Order: sequence, then structure tokens, then C-alpha cells
Amino acid sequence: MKELTKKKGIILTSKDYKENARLLTILTEDGLENAILRGANKINSKNKKFTIIPVEVEYVRTISTLATFTEGYITNNFINLKLDQNKSLIYLAIVEKILAFTDSIDDKLQMYEFVNKILTLLDQTKYPIVVLYLFEIKLLYLIGIAPILNSCVICHNSSDDCGFSLSLGGIICNSCMIKYPIDYDANTTKVFKYLYFIKLDKVDEKFLELIDQTKLSFTKLIDSYYEKYIDFSSKVKKVIRSVN
Ligand SMILES: [Zn+2]
Repeated sequence: MKELTKKKGIILTSKDYKENARLLTILTEDGLENAILRGANKINSKNKKFTIIPVEVEYVRTISTLATFTEGYITNNFINLKLDQNKSLIYLAIVEKILAFTDSIDDKLQMYEFVNKILTLLDQTKYPIVVLYLFEIKLLYLIGIAPILNSCVICHNSSDDCGFSLSLGGIICNSCMIKYPIDYDANTTKVFKYLYFIKLDKVDEKFLELIDQTKLSFTKLIDSYYEKYIDFSSKVKKVIRSVN
């Protein structure tokens, strides 16, 4: 008999594989792993439920180079996310970054818990775009390319009405703005800082609503930042833009 191990994870993607099987990509507390789900494409397969992503599962798999998913128990189905087209698109943008960056993040457990909280928020909220902002902004810290937001990049004074400079990767105070042009004004920068610094445990629907009510969009700032500091441009978000 093959050796087995029990794990928990979030099944992020599911692709056709040989002979009616599916290849699952699962985010676990140890990072990303692939597992084959046999027979999942057969009509009446009881395994089909694991392929309607995302699903949080406790599962058993073989210990081998390419593991086989032998059985599982669904602990969260993210049903609201799946029924909402806009949330589903945002989910794809989130997964794209999880797949791109998880390997480079040292603390895999922290990454797992972070993603789990983000997907739970996305599932429950009426303000999915704000959850995307939260995810993308907080991920910068985990990847190790966090912007400097505590004090002015130039003079190191901390003040409340700083603007944001993309080229300098942080905030610029009022006095330094004369010499160093900013890309985003004090108001946008302030809300950006809220999103960066708030603890995920403290994020509730009220907070997401407040951010939504500012009517500020962080899409351009975030996308430009990822492009400039880690040379990443989102294919999914490009598709979303062309659809809209
Ligand atoms: Zn300054």
C-alpha cells in the first residue's frame, strides 16, 4: 500500500488531466502542491465537488512526486463567491498572484492564513473590489517589496498629509513635495495606508463599506507598483479591463 498523508488546503485551480482525471493545485500550510484527482471527469463522479473551485478541504493524498488526492472533506465551499460573476473574476486575479508569488514567500503558514481570510472576506462581502485592494496591497509586504509608508522617503518626517511617489516607492511630505513630484494626493495616500496597515482580523463589512464610499480606485497605483517593483503585470486584470 502507498503511504498517505493528511493535509488541509484550498483547492485553487483544477485542470483536465489524463483519463478522466483532474490536476488540482492546492494552497496548503506548506505552500503550493499539485495532486491528481482520479475519475473526476466521469459522469456521476463523487469527486466532482472538489473541482468547482475554490474549496477549502481537509484531504488525504499519497506521498509521491505527483500525489494522488484519495479522499477529502469540504470545510468551506465559498458559495457566494462562485455565484457572483464579479467576485469570480476578482478571484481569478487573486489566484494569478498566489500562483506567481507563493514560492518566493518564506512564511508559507502566514501566506495560507492570509489567503484563507481574504477568500472568506471576498465570499461574504458586498464590496469585492476593496477585498482585492486589501489582498494586493498586503501581499506587497509578504513578497518583500513593501512601500515606505511610515515616514517621508526623503526627510523621514512623519506627517499625516503625505502624497505617494511611485518612482520613490513611498510617501513624500508636504515640504519635500516641492522638489519631488507625487503621483497620488494626500487623500488617496491616506486611504492606501489604511488598507496597508489594518489587521485582517479587524476588517469587517463596515470597514470595506467605508473604503468603498471614498470612491477611490487603487487599481492603477497597485498595477503600476507591481510592474515597477517586481516586473509583474496581471494578464487576468487585462482581460477584466477589456470585458468592462
Ligand atoms: Zn519630507
